[in-house]
Amino acid sequence: MTSRIYYTDPYCRRFDAAVTRAFQHEGRPAVLLDRTAFYPSSGGQPFDIGTLSERGPSGSAVNVLDTVDLDDEVVHVLSAPLAAGAAVHGEVDWDRRFDHMQQHTGQHVLSAGFDRLFDNRTVSFHMGAELSTIDLARDMSWEQIARAEAEANRIVWENREVAIRFVSPGEALALPLRKEPSRTGDLRLIDVKDFDLSACGGTHVARTGAIGAIVVSALEKFKGGVRVTFACGGRALRVFHTLREAVSGSVRALSVLPHELPGAIERMQAEAKDLRRALKRFQESLAAHEAARLVGAGGARGVVVEALEGWDAAGLKMIASEITQHASAAVALFSSSSPFAVVVARSRDLSVDANAVLRALTERFGGRGGGKADLAQGGGLDGRIADICLAARELLRGSAHPSNP
Ligand SMILES: [Zn+2]
Repeated sequence: MTSRIYYTDPYCRRFDAAVTRAFQHEGRPAVLLDRTAFYPSSGGQPFDIGTLSERGPSGSAVNVLDTVDLDDEVVHVLSAPLAAGAAVHGEVDWDRRFDHMQQHTGQHVLSAGFDRLFDNRTVSFHMGAELSTIDLARDMSWEQIARAEAEANRIVWENREVAIRFVSPGEALALPLRKEPSRTGDLRLIDVKDFDLSACGGTHVARTGAIGAIVVSALEKFKGGVRVTFACGGRALRVFHTLREAVSGSVRALSVLPHELPGAIERMQAEAKDLRRALKRFQESLAAHEAARLVGAGGARGVVVEALEGWDAAGLKMIASEITQHASAAVALFSSSSPFAVVVARSRDLSVDANAVLRALTERFGGRGGGKADLAQGGGLDGRIADICLAARELLRGSAHPSNP
């Protein structure tokens, strides 16, 4: 069985070992070592990556792409094969690992904060590539989160010792563990001095000061409790940088101070709503004028076909409805630029099937749409607008006769 160096020395990043087995793991070369500092994904903490190089003058390095915990062994998945029996030097990608140690230890301290202040148990923990989450058993307010966050950071800044202890199951029974251990046999305990005692197989910093800072960035309801999103150390700094960029861009665009942003956005939203309402009123009255003009120019048998500049699909529908409500007419209105939007409509006294006319147009000029016999609309028509209008005029004339002669 592989001896796991990180169990007792999580700061070990370089080590010598021997390849005890070489094989394929899910189609990729892999090895087992007699001892390793590489951490395999487990308990919410992602795997380590790094390199293994053969010791000796010809020793070339291969990348460790993944580290997997399998049947109590640590499988190192490699970029190229290594031979069984080889003496190797391992090097763990330390930036990645130390980041994981910051997040993981920060999680212990923050979870203990929720537990000690509000008796709210951590159900699960997940470390993502950017942010990590803790799922809590019960609901919590932002005010409570802020208090637990403050308490956790107090523990960080007191730079308390984080010790690793091994105990038997019997000894564990007598200890105030935050969480019931999920495994049997001897337990590895992570002891944040006078604050938290949990069974955990992960890697942690030696003193809480190395966590740097713990920030909670989001809170959402989840399975009857809440999901808390948080970041520690270097990630907390990155969260701040992301927010700083977003806020400074926004305050420049709106010419306000950061704390004035929410109010400024609410005012803009209210103004936009008023503008939309005013615009709709103007559109309606303009549509009535446009409808009157078109009916005047409609010509024989009340067929109105036009491409109208400056109107969207909703405006075209408004004008078409206006015409068919006040005149005996069959109407096809188009937008003025390709791909063309179209509205086909007819007044109640005519038997034109607007939907059939629309279908005939889209069959010939592409696009899609649908509707009813008295009003249909579509879009995506392509071709010369003069040809499309001519076709529409023929279709409407061919079928436009009074339904009650
Ligand atoms: Zn842990």
